[in-house]
Amino acid sequence: KNKGVTIALHTPAMDQGRIERLALLADLRVALTSDQSQFVLHYQPKLDLRTGQVTGAEALVRWNHPTRGTIAPDVFIPLAESTGLIEQITPLVLDAALRECAGWDEDLTVAVNLSARNLADSSLPERVASALSRFGVPAHRLILEITESSVMGDPEQTMPVLHALRNLGTCLSLDDFGTGYSSLSYLQRLPVGEVKIDRSFVLGLFGEDDASSVALIRGITGLAATLGLRTVAEGIEDQAVLDVLLGLGCDTGQGYHLSRPLAAPAFRQWIAARNH
Ligand code: C2E
Ligand code: CA
Ligand code: CA
Ligand code: CA
Repeated sequence: KNKGVTIALHTPAMDQGRIERLALLADLRVALTSDQSQFVLHYQPKLDLRTGQVTGAEALVRWNHPTRGTIAPDVFIPLAESTGLIEQITPLVLDAALRECAGWDEDLTVAVNLSARNLADSSLPERVASALSRFGVPAHRLILEITESSVMGDPEQTMPVLHALRNLGTCLSLDDFGTGYSSLSYLQRLPVGEVKIDRSFVLGLFGEDDASSVALIRGITGLAATLGLRTVAEGIEDQAVLDVLLGLGCDTGQGYHLSRPLAAPAFRQWIAARNH
């Protein structure tokens, strides 16, 4: 247990953060090889802001570490991305999300996050198609969330993958929009059906820079409407923000005010309770 401390004492050049990282990486490899049940998905409902209807959920992975407790994706996903282990995590997440989605009675969508390395893999569309048929989920119920940076790293490699995914009938969603390279013109070139307005702009609606957040969100929703894309606002934390977003022409939203991400059984109960 105190191994990290001992090593730190003997190798002062190696800082504690690096040792932590290596320990976590070793545990991540073990989990992926011998206990994949440590990875659990939570589902955050997405709602139509006008009608209040649930349209689906975003699948968000958590790592239930045997001794450290729950580890947030912000901690281990970047590690998995930089080491290539994300290529093992994404198929796990995709399978689990589709298995769960197949059990929901309504026509709800499930959204899965993809990383740059996944999009650089030309076998991805084939593997998505096979997962869809394995779980009997129609392609239109699967939303694949991508980011500008994950596409723009190597557009020649990723664009054909995006088109193949779109041709399968899945919906591509541009996540964290506004934070990356963010020339609005990318929107036109990417085969996406949905744009997610980053939480930082939504939170900004009642902050110091509320005027610029309003202008930015208005710009995004206007362009999205012109291009026939759906808009999703993330990080809605209260009713006042929801009302502003509605006024700005946003279609769909998710956030703590609507629901926190829920474990699979809790999500099913949440849906059932809403329908009564
Ligand atoms: P993201 O895709 O932007 O996901 C939204 C994050 O915002 C989630 O954090 C969610 O719990 C949080 N959130 C939702 N509503 C609110 C709100 O009202 N207020 C605030 N402050 N936060 C809210 P989470 O689950 O910790 O995920 C963090 C990031 O980890 C995700 O950001 C995504 O980039 C990544 N991630 C999660 N699951 C996966 C996965 O399966 N694969 C990959 N590649 N990345 C994942
Ligand atoms: Ca996302
Ligand atoms: Ca996001
Ligand atoms: Ca975000």
